[in-house]
Amino acid sequence: MNLHPSVVHQAELVALEIRVRGRVQGVGFRPTVWHIARDLGLSGEVLNDADGVLVRVGGNERSVAAFVERIASETPPLGQIDRIETQAFRGNLPHQFRIAESVSGSTHTQIAPDAAICDACVAEIKKPSERRFRYPFTSCTHCGPRLSIVKSVPFDRAKTTMAPFAMCEACGAEYRDPTDRRFHAEAVACHACGPKATLLHLDGGLASVGQHSTRDSVAAARSLIEMGEIVAIKGLGGYQLTCDATNADTVTRLRRSKRRDAKPFALMARDLDIIRSYCSVGVEEQRQLTGASAPIVLLDDGGSKRLPEAIAPGLTTLGFMLPTTPLHFLILEHLDRPVVMTSGNLADEPQVIDDAAALDRLAGIAPYALVHDREIANRIDDSVVRVMSGRARIFRRARGFAPAPIPMPPGFEASPELVAMGGQLKATFCLVKDGAAILSQHQGDLENAATFDEYRKTLALYTELFDHAPVALVADRHPEYLSSKLARELAQTGSLPLIEVQHHHAHVAACLAENGQALDAPAVLGVVLDGLGWGDDGTLWGGEFLLADYRRYERLGIFRPVAMLGGAQAAREPWRSLYAHLVAEMGWAKFATNFSELDLYADLSGRPRTILDWMVRNGVNTPKASSCGRLFDAVAAALNICRERQGYEGEAAARLEAMVDRDTFRFEDEAFSYPFTIQNISGSHLPCIEPLAMWRALLGDLVGMTPAPVMAARFHKGLAQAVVAMATKLASSDDDSGPRFDTVALSGGCFQNRTLFEEVVRRLKQNNFIVLSHAQVPANDGGLALGQAAIGAAHLIDAKTDETEGSTPCASGFQAAS
Ligand SMILES: [Zn+2]
Ligand SMILES: [Zn+2]
Repeated sequence: MNLHPSVVHQAELVALEIRVRGRVQGVGFRPTVWHIARDLGLSGEVLNDADGVLVRVGGNERSVAAFVERIASETPPLGQIDRIETQAFRGNLPHQFRIAESVSGSTHTQIAPDAAICDACVAEIKKPSERRFRYPFTSCTHCGPRLSIVKSVPFDRAKTTMAPFAMCEACGAEYRDPTDRRFHAEAVACHACGPKATLLHLDGGLASVGQHSTRDSVAAARSLIEMGEIVAIKGLGGYQLTCDATNADTVTRLRRSKRRDAKPFALMARDLDIIRSYCSVGVEEQRQLTGASAPIVLLDDGGSKRLPEAIAPGLTTLGFMLPTTPLHFLILEHLDRPVVMTSGNLADEPQVIDDAAALDRLAGIAPYALVHDREIANRIDDSVVRVMSGRARIFRRARGFAPAPIPMPPGFEASPELVAMGGQLKATFCLVKDGAAILSQHQGDLENAATFDEYRKTLALYTELFDHAPVALVADRHPEYLSSKLARELAQTGSLPLIEVQHHHAHVAACLAENGQALDAPAVLGVVLDGLGWGDDGTLWGGEFLLADYRRYERLGIFRPVAMLGGAQAAREPWRSLYAHLVAEMGWAKFATNFSELDLYADLSGRPRTILDWMVRNGVNTPKASSCGRLFDAVAAALNICRERQGYEGEAAARLEAMVDRDTFRFEDEAFSYPFTIQNISGSHLPCIEPLAMWRALLGDLVGMTPAPVMAARFHKGLAQAVVAMATKLASSDDDSGPRFDTVALSGGCFQNRTLFEEVVRRLKQNNFIVLSHAQVPANDGGLALGQAAIGAAHLIDAKTDETEGSTPCASGFQAAS
């Protein structure tokens, strides 16, 4: 940022034109500038245009310099300055500093994420003398809906779902007054002119419950929750289902009717004190909970009180958030216990946003719905964050974070516009524009037809909102991903090139990009531990050690590949991975001889072994996968945690982590961990993490009836040691030319396991590696699109350079990225 203006002297008077780029529109930036200018007694004007905010200012040299400093340091809460550029100004300036009309044009500006209700608005709705007392749609320039209500740009009320609500005189006056915190707050509204809430009885059609006003409706909804009812709420970015979280019967009923048997429910509580009575809340966790993004924060349980097991079956973490909107605030204000606040949908469907659909789909779950008459333009789920190694890591990036751009690292400035389509599960897409990556909010699993529909709609919306014209598309190499299929379709109809990217290479690149690793930085070791991705050799990958930069990657090491019995079914039923592992490692006969006394033996003996063995022998629907996720499944199944079926992706691994005995885990003796070896196995020239010794020790522990929490601890510790041992081995080069890399990038969904992640990070640092990890984007497939975007951009930048230099693009040494 240039804070040293070049100035034009006019007898100590100077005039500057100041360009401010970043998220500076719709966040109260102009009034802030106006205040500072008036405060310093400067003349001039401020206005919005296509590039952000433009300020022309005149006055004495010292005041103007102070002005520029203060603009940079007094950014309003939702604003974010990327760059300030100054140059001398020679035109005429209005004597009284003023806010001038906006100038339109092609947009390079940003849409702010939705923000949780601010303190000033909370104070207002709590105060009986205020005209917005208990008004559930109160907002200002520092808080309230943004992406969830926007239909097109620029972000003016007319282009949002607030358009049908004509401002009353009082609201209009605030909107026009530069000294008011609602100056140009596009969602400004009050009881008289804004949206209204109504409580509906869903059983008997749409008849509202009595003749309630907005205030009564909210109070009635709260009473229903207290009485043990399930209530649907039309939230900010979608319908939600809520009930008393301390009422085990209601929670179980909700689980049954929502057809969600295991996935943990998110919780909301009025204040931190209530959360603290169930969980421990650290400094960073509190910062996340109370920030404008207000995500769900995964917290360790361990307060004085406990919630019913049905909230988060088998887990030791609870996902809590504070009230995010005034509507939520008012519902919870007088509730001294937490409520479930889960997305309003059935099983795997996307969260409902449309009123008619909501009432139709949710009637079977909730007898009542608290609705309102402001349309939800964009579906946005609640974001999820977990603090690991002292830093907040986004697991699901949606409300409060999207669509804030992530700056592309040095070297990517010249990237043309492109769109990366993401993966299949936890899908997101990513636009590259103006040197930034704009990652969409979490879309969900595209296999669900309604989710895929939403994904396409959101892609169209972003294209319009960001005035985006891609010159190329980037997609995962997996032939069956719906995002890849759509990419091929779009590439064909638009006659655009399609760049296909290997799944785990994209994971590494995502980690590099969010950590600002420059385009030409030396290659790092990417350790990608996840469920599955399409490999280059016709097998599935998922436990990968890749020497990689944005352009190339080389597979240096892997987890031992094991058959997935029944293909995709193996990912759902952990016992399949267990059986495959035992047969591959020691063979059934040896297992039977040594461990026939185990219940596990009896269990596996009863499975359709003959068919499974035949399938493996004949290569029928038993693809090999070097997956770390499946290893977690197998171990969880051996410990009889989630052996039959996973209710959600990663359940077995999450339960296994929850099982870990903390005290044993901290035990420093290396011999305590389950041993893994690193060796070359037949049929592969790559060193593999070989789990045979781990299995022998684990089965021995089962025979010795070692407690499961101790076994879970031994497994996590052993796995972390194996990962670091592999990294250390790979770093040493064959000749004496020094280490092959000094940086390790961690990615893949398995690194959302805090126990594994923190132990791997600690040990890598002990071994003097620089460690890069995810924070702004998920380590899981939700971050994939960012990595694809970076790889695609690198490819296009190189192609352009080669073109001007008259050669054709080629890559050697590593495998080419596309
Ligand atoms: Zn506010
Ligand atoms: Zn009003």
